[in-house]
Amino acid sequence: MEREKGLLIVLSGPSGVGKGTVRKEIFSQTDVSFEYSISATSRKMREGEVNGVDYFFKTREDFENMIKNEELLEYTEYVGNYYGTPVDYVKQTLEEGKDVFLEIEVEGAKQVRKKFPEGLFIFLIPPSLTELENRIKTRGTETDELIRNRMAVAKDELKMMSLYDYVVENDKVENAVNKIKAIVIAEHCRRFRV
Ligand code: 5GP
Repeated sequence: MEREKGLLIVLSGPSGVGKGTVRKEIFSQTDVSFEYSISATSRKMREGEVNGVDYFFKTREDFENMIKNEELLEYTEYVGNYYGTPVDYVKQTLEEGKDVFLEIEVEGAKQVRKKFPEGLFIFLIPPSLTELENRIKTRGTETDELIRNRMAVAKDELKMMSLYDYVVENDKVENAVNKIKAIVIAEHCRRFRV
């Protein structure tokens, strides 16, 4: 017996909570069969990032054309840069019966919820706000002003927790990853119908 469509898994939560680290750890494991949806962004590439692997890096103009041409499932302007999910990849992969994994901020997740109410929405939270600020600072890629902006956004974002199906505390990456994998397994069992 085969499932027909794949499950859309959305991992969200405040910036700096460790979504990216958790996602990378999930995808480094061999017993995971989700497909990662690579986002488009207009932000500058950070050292070590690769175009087409971490993001599809776009100019603002190219990104705005993607919006106009309705190529994005959701998008947002976040701390001065555009971020968005290319829609074709998501739809096609779900049709093929594969699970698709999005790692996006909360405004985008809200938009996806409207279009895919049946998706699986997981909210990653930090053990505390102090811990969140420390994580953003130790990443070392942000200026003081950007850190303040990101903290202000993060406090608002935490209020969105109730819109999610599951909340996972990122005390340790390994624990968060195990919980997310368990949630997905449970969700497939819950939805299984002959
Ligand atoms: P960063 O600049 O640190 O890579 O990402 C900033 C924020 O944008 C993170 O919270 C990340 O999850 C989010 N993000 C990445 N891709 C997307 C996307 O396609 N859509 C939305 N809405 N947010 C995204």
